[in-house]
Amino acid sequence: MSRIFIWWIGEAAADRAALEHVAARLAAAFRAPVALWEAPERPRHAYDPRRRQHASGMILRWLLEAGPGAGKVLGITDRDLFIPILTYVFGEAQLGGSAAVVSTARLVERADARGGGPLLARLEKEALHEVGHAFGLVHCGTPRCVMSRSAAVKDVDAKEPALCPECRVRLQELDVGGP
Ligand SMILES: [Zn+2]
Ligand SMILES: [Zn+2]
Repeated sequence: MSRIFIWWIGEAAADRAALEHVAARLAAAFRAPVALWEAPERPRHAYDPRRRQHASGMILRWLLEAGPGAGKVLGITDRDLFIPILTYVFGEAQLGGSAAVVSTARLVERADARGGGPLLARLEKEALHEVGHAFGLVHCGTPRCVMSRSAAVKDVDAKEPALCPECRVRLQELDVGGP
């Protein structure tokens, strides 16, 4: 499996313990080496002043240019993300590509403001979900699978922080068939 880099691209100080937790979970789920990528650049050009949100598609393209340039890169931000047709998104990824992004902005809903508990559990699930897309996994119909679609925080809370058995098989097939 390709190496995965996790890059904190938020505006608040990085929560290193949270990032290391997500790194360990990604490494276990995708059986891939995971490293933190630390660079001071931020995708501020992706800010849309009219919507007061960041365009996630622009962040994906920027991650490819500004990031490590190898393996997969997951940007994690505290800025609110959108795609043009939706009010907000928890994250976005290039299907079978190299870049993924997740935001904690909407995951803090009714979570402990100090992070930890539900916020970290939600971040872990959305990180698994978007990196799953980057490895080529599509949305899954198995109700509690981490690759099932989430429109709201309650959908995130209902998921398990794991790929279902079918998604694990698909992931292996994609890895064998891929580059
Ligand atoms: Zn998805
Ligand atoms: Zn699944």
